[in-house]
Amino acid sequence: MSEIKVVRVHADVRQDQTVTTGTKAWELFAEDTDVIAARVGEGEGSSLKDLAYELADGDVVASVEIHSPDGHDILRHSTAHVMAQAVQDLFPDAKLGIGPPITDGFYYDFDVATPFVPEDLDKIETRMRKIIKEGQRFSRRVTTDADALSELADEPYKIELIGLKGGAGVEDAAEGASVEVGAGELTIYDNINRKGEAAWSDLCRGPHLPTTKRIPAFKLMRSAAAYWRGDEKNKQLQRIYGTAWETKEALEAHLHRLEEAEKRDHRKLGRDLDLFSFPDEIGSGLPVFHPKGGVIKREMEDYVRQRHIEEGFDYVGTPHISKEGTFHLSGHLPYYADGMFPPMEFEGANYYLKAMNCPMHNLIFRSRGRSYRELPLRLFEFGHVYRYEKSGVIHGLTRVRGFAQDDSHSYVTPEQAPGEIKHLLDFVLGLLRDFGLDDFYLELSTRDDSKPDKFVGSQEQWDNATDVLRTACEESGLELVPDPGGAAFYGPKVSVQAKDAIGRTWQMSTIQYDFNQPEGFDLQYQAADGSRQQPVMIHSAKFGSIERFLGVLVEHYAGAFPPWLAPVQVQAIPVADAFSDYLYDVARRMKLQGLRVEVDDSDDRMQKKIRNAQLQKVPFMMIAGADDVAAGAVSFRYRDGRQDNGVPIDEAIARVTAAVATREQV
Ligand SMILES: [Zn+2]
Ligand SMILES: [Zn+2]
Repeated sequence: MSEIKVVRVHADVRQDQTVTTGTKAWELFAEDTDVIAARVGEGEGSSLKDLAYELADGDVVASVEIHSPDGHDILRHSTAHVMAQAVQDLFPDAKLGIGPPITDGFYYDFDVATPFVPEDLDKIETRMRKIIKEGQRFSRRVTTDADALSELADEPYKIELIGLKGGAGVEDAAEGASVEVGAGELTIYDNINRKGEAAWSDLCRGPHLPTTKRIPAFKLMRSAAAYWRGDEKNKQLQRIYGTAWETKEALEAHLHRLEEAEKRDHRKLGRDLDLFSFPDEIGSGLPVFHPKGGVIKREMEDYVRQRHIEEGFDYVGTPHISKEGTFHLSGHLPYYADGMFPPMEFEGANYYLKAMNCPMHNLIFRSRGRSYRELPLRLFEFGHVYRYEKSGVIHGLTRVRGFAQDDSHSYVTPEQAPGEIKHLLDFVLGLLRDFGLDDFYLELSTRDDSKPDKFVGSQEQWDNATDVLRTACEESGLELVPDPGGAAFYGPKVSVQAKDAIGRTWQMSTIQYDFNQPEGFDLQYQAADGSRQQPVMIHSAKFGSIERFLGVLVEHYAGAFPPWLAPVQVQAIPVADAFSDYLYDVARRMKLQGLRVEVDDSDDRMQKKIRNAQLQKVPFMMIAGADDVAAGAVSFRYRDGRQDNGVPIDEAIARVTAAVATREQV
């Protein structure tokens, strides 16, 4: 036995080590029970391995802890194996589809004669607990195509995957399929029981946990139908979703977050609060706003328009459709054709619904000669755009097919670009804070250097633009997360990711650096020395889409909007009929101040009226009885049950007006 040299990386500490040949990765990290796998190699060429991986000379081996993103994936995917084993134990005729990890969990698809019912999931969970307790070892075995085909003769879907092996199309063929087969060796994992026998086997690339005992906490969530390879022409399989976590506490916290998210679901609250709906008659992904939702939308738009004007933007307007030539100039055709609705042909020309506003703004820039003195020129509008989204991804207001972007384009000299980006970043963060969001990080999306044909422009242009954006991000002091390959075809972008009240992250504002469209549209300005120069264009959407941001706000506030956005700011409730006129008078005075007030003079009893106002999440309930009338006052009741009695009318009006003006939450 000879010696080999490896580098062990554990908890960020690197250490050169000499070990004997045949040493397994787990021996490097044996002292830390949180380590469940290893990453071998560094950077892009690295890959995840089982702890049973046999070290080779020169390997750089990093520990993968169970609570890390990689660790979560391995834990969840291993749990999917255990689930599939349990399903085949209980339903021997079930055929296996694929079982990848997903955000916060995993799934596995099965071809079964009858769909699973909740009692089945209970039985499967019980069986899984038994397998976990037994501590079956995940054991890797390299096989050949021919051997795998005969061994898996009873698994038609796995056989189909073997046929796709190694091709670039594996992930396209079925999302998650590269978990099973990919470039390199074909492997089968056996679950080895205490007797040393393979209790169950699955075609898989791995890696997995060392044993099933290392699954600390899991839960099966639900089952649903899913087409094989996501194609409705294929057979419908049954998918079981589950989740797995590093501790029981982490699992509980996750389940609690799900419960909170369900209560805040904007589609449900939108219905309960009568804000918006999605009529089938109009079509999927095309919302309509009811009067109360219309109030919130208008307040958002008024405020955003006003802030843009204050920050030096010029408000413009452009049409919803355009001849196709404009989109060829901008490069959206052909690069973005899949995201656009098909063209309409009339009067001998093709017209497209616009999917972005930039081409139109460029034509405004180009409508006459421009001087350097006019730059930065900032054009802004609520531009209605239409984007083709597959029906499967449409979701409430957060993923729609038609929406209004709060879109702006800044035309600047190259020297002005860094300052303009900083200005835009400060501006959008301020806007988001005014809407109650104040926990941010930034993402920098750059081009995928391995796919140059998907991106226009030279390496130098991309490097320069990326540097400018990165500097602005670093100066903001916010956390910066790289997103390699995530850029649009025409330039890199910064996106602001905001955390909501229950810690979920939403992508909000984007700032994109574009050196392509100014060239396509031949945009020019006259520089100080009289020469003709090409401006840089910076795209920026603050909320992305008004519709989507409204949906996010409904969930962030759980429907309890701050007074400035609330559809009804004050709900007046008389203690008895006799006090209605008194409240009508106060309400009239409040309306003169621009406040939104309703008087509940229905036949309901007072307690019922209070309950209704609470359900509608009205910020101020204004109550009046004999004592209030005698004192020329009203009593306030707030959403949290707090109460202020005997507030003089003038003071009451001033209090509500101030709460609206300062955009505070009450
Ligand atoms: Zn696997
Ligand atoms: Zn744009």
